[in-house]
Amino acid sequence: MLISGRKTRNEPLECREKRLVNRHKCVKKKTANTTVANEVRKFHAAVSEGPMYICSCCDQLWYKHSVTAAEKLRLCNPSVIKYLLSKLSVDDMEWVSQSCYKHLQKK
Ligand SMILES: [Zn+2]
Repeated sequence: MLISGRKTRNEPLECREKRLVNRHKCVKKKTANTTVANEVRKFHAAVSEGPMYICSCCDQLWYKHSVTAAEKLRLCNPSVIKYLLSKLSVDDMEWVSQSCYKHLQKK
């Protein structure tokens, strides 16, 4: 009698716990969707102007988020000048793609 009494008392608690877990899942899912939508929006904003930045090293076109000002590279390593083509693009500045930047930093 005691055991069955405890069982019935515990049951509603279990149900409530399940409900709470499910509600938590729903909240989590909603947050994830919002984040994905945000990332998509950020991506579209980033690519909207097209790749207009010329890398002064490999002479390829890049997006803004993929380049770094060549000036920064010159300041930390002046010997990289011999690898740069002095190509000016956006804002009349010289840009270097991030992959070239990484390699030139080691020169
Ligand atoms: Zn490059």
